[in-house]
Amino acid sequence: DVKLQAVLSSLAQPAKDLEAQSPGQRAPDARYVKLNTNENPFPLPTMVWRSAISALERQYLYPEDDNIGLREAAADAYGLSKDHVIAGNGSSELLGLIYRAFLGPGDSVAMMSPGFSFNRKLAVLQSAKFLEVSWSDSHSIPIDQLLFGPAKDAKFILLANPNNPTGTFAPIADIERLVAQSERLVVLDEAYVDFAPDNGLRLVRRHPNLLLLRTLSKSYAAAGIRVGFGLGHPEVIGRLRNIQNVFNMNVIAHAVGVSILAHRAAYEDNHRHIKHERERVTAALHQFGFCVAPSHTNFLLARVPNGQDGRWWQAALERDGILVAVFTDDGLDHCIRISIGTTAQMDSFLAAVAAISERLK
Ligand code: PMP
Repeated sequence: DVKLQAVLSSLAQPAKDLEAQSPGQRAPDARYVKLNTNENPFPLPTMVWRSAISALERQYLYPEDDNIGLREAAADAYGLSKDHVIAGNGSSELLGLIYRAFLGPGDSVAMMSPGFSFNRKLAVLQSAKFLEVSWSDSHSIPIDQLLFGPAKDAKFILLANPNNPTGTFAPIADIERLVAQSERLVVLDEAYVDFAPDNGLRLVRRHPNLLLLRTLSKSYAAAGIRVGFGLGHPEVIGRLRNIQNVFNMNVIAHAVGVSILAHRAAYEDNHRHIKHERERVTAALHQFGFCVAPSHTNFLLARVPNGQDGRWWQAALERDGILVAVFTDDGLDHCIRISIGTTAQMDSFLAAVAAISERLK
């Protein structure tokens, strides 16, 4: 169609070099065991469920302006004021705001690599440079490289702790040294922190250049509800809130968010289960010849045996009804990433691994 082509070519296309990126394959049907996007398969606590239902009575009203009630609930839960908090439609929305608010064309952002690949796309959308700095072999933060290497002029430094896709955890003391020594904004993405031994919340009041991200998608089993928080200095948070869409979250997300924050203790069993399964599956994978880094998240990054390609294992597992993730552009070609689900799901995964290993003999 000639007119369509003319219209399309008249439009700006900042991301023309990017392929449409899918965060992970959908399960073709409900029989598949979906272990590819780090969801938490347990039901919401009953009280949280009820709050979602009663929020439907407010369906004809626009949601609360500026997410006030949800921000107050988060401020309460995290020991901050509501001016320290921005609420987002998942932490992905907040990542998008950070790139839009703080990066112009030609600016650069520094990120620890391997890391959460969505960030690369966000930098491209801003016509910004994306500087990847590798984790050291011991998975510690190369502070000097971030402060004095090619990344020294980056507008902000972004790292996830625990990190995705490696599952590794850097001590909070190291994070604090980086934040204290850096003159720049440090964005610390703590999407998986409830599965880790420590967290960076106490640093928020101490360091005005720290911006912390949290989500209810992983440890609070609410990926489909879309609730995330940014916690930081009110001036930094204010700049993000300035450019956010009005009514960015819906009434159900507000109600569920407030209720989850009030019932965090109800998730203790959930977190205990995931950590327990994580250790069980790690040990079992070692028996099959996989190399698994100790994980502090709800997933495992496993190097497959005998130098095989991760994609081969992904395809073999899919034929057995199991979905896992692979990372082809981060030097992780020989790895698969497996989310931790229910005991039954992990048994199905391990049975498939056993069958595939047997066939390979
Ligand atoms: N940060 C990291 C490190 C993640 O792995 C994810 C989800 N894969 C997110 C942020 C985004 O999560 P959400 O938008 O669901 O809050």
